[in-house]
Amino acid sequence: MDFDVFFNQQLDALKQEGRYRVFADLERKAGAFPAAVQHTEAGIKDVTVWCSNDYLGMGQHPCVTGAMKEAIDRCGAGAGGTRNISGTNHYHVLLEQELADLHGKEAALLFTSGYVSNWAALGTLAARLPRAIVLSDASNHASMIEGIRHSRAETHIFKHNDPEDLAQRLLTLDPERPKIVAFESVYSMDGDIAPIAEICDVAERHGAFTYLDEVHAVGLYGPRGGGVAEREGLMHRLSVIEGTLGKAFGVMGGYIAGSSALCDFIRSYASGFIFTTALPPAIAAGTLASVRHLKVSSAERSRHQNRVAKVRARLKAIGIPMIDNPSHIIPVMVGNAKKCKQISDWLLENHGIYVQPINYPTVPKGTERLRITPSPLHSDGDIDRLISALSEIWSQCALARVSSAA
Ligand SMILES: *Cc1c(COP(=O)(O)O)cnc(C)c1O
Repeated sequence: MDFDVFFNQQLDALKQEGRYRVFADLERKAGAFPAAVQHTEAGIKDVTVWCSNDYLGMGQHPCVTGAMKEAIDRCGAGAGGTRNISGTNHYHVLLEQELADLHGKEAALLFTSGYVSNWAALGTLAARLPRAIVLSDASNHASMIEGIRHSRAETHIFKHNDPEDLAQRLLTLDPERPKIVAFESVYSMDGDIAPIAEICDVAERHGAFTYLDEVHAVGLYGPRGGGVAEREGLMHRLSVIEGTLGKAFGVMGGYIAGSSALCDFIRSYASGFIFTTALPPAIAAGTLASVRHLKVSSAERSRHQNRVAKVRARLKAIGIPMIDNPSHIIPVMVGNAKKCKQISDWLLENHGIYVQPINYPTVPKGTERLRITPSPLHSDGDIDRLISALSEIWSQCALARVSSAA
């Protein structure tokens, strides 16, 4: 077999469908977020990033970068091993304590990413709990789906954000078997938020274990940045709260928070936790500084909400179609993969505005979109430039506007 011929055929199929991914080659500029430099074949150009998951710009906060530099000088570059074999650094221990406290839990456990935390924790729980049944929200993230699949546990998909459907399904299942209800708080593509209390009500009636992914909420919601469950006073009702250190906290890593027994169990049985090098001490130190900062400072969160409201209002005023949602994510709907990519290319080439197109399979076909994520660091001028560029493109392409336009 000619392997490369096969690979190229597969890639051509993606290109034909308009969903071949092209990465923007960026250099982020510390101290100037959301500004970055893009490397292209024609040379370098300045761009404004409008689609980063570094939602609060913590990736360049001096308290974070300072802590990372100090940790490198103290401890060197890498952890030097898995957590079990010489790789547990004191920063890991402090960070796990800080995360447990953030979510009001007895313990927390770090992973190399949010993806790995979902894959390893859900996979291990569903595989090891005898005869477990998983109830998984229809819109759950790939990392949860892969973990559940890997466990080979019986799985039922309930309708997205629908506690009634969850209740109906639970009624049909053997009451003696252990159940895991897995869902997210903020869904990152539509920006909608789960009815966490109602889902917990249903899960509690059936004695189910509740697993909440707060990846798009930690740092951003709640008085200490504990997420939507903190904001709504519900953290104690969740068996596990899972989060990332790579989005609003601005660095890298993932974690679960829950009971001591649960965290010790995952620590002791999850392959994806055990057999991999621990996060570098500097990463743990940087995220520790970020979590600590956002626990006591709400300035970033309020400015973030202010910027989001402003962008949303301006888009609404010119009739750009978007999903109205209660979160910080602004999905501008295009509904066609090629158009979506073309608009994104124009924004970048003609306006120096970078918004990555989001196409299938990340979102369903026909719902292709530009996912705009304002940060506290986007200025009024940045917003003016975004709005006038989008307005110009919408007119040029004769794209439909929505009638709510003033
Ligand atoms: C990004 C994401 C993850 C994975 O987190 P990483 O730290 O980026 O690996 C998990 N869950 C959801 C819902 C996500 O969007």
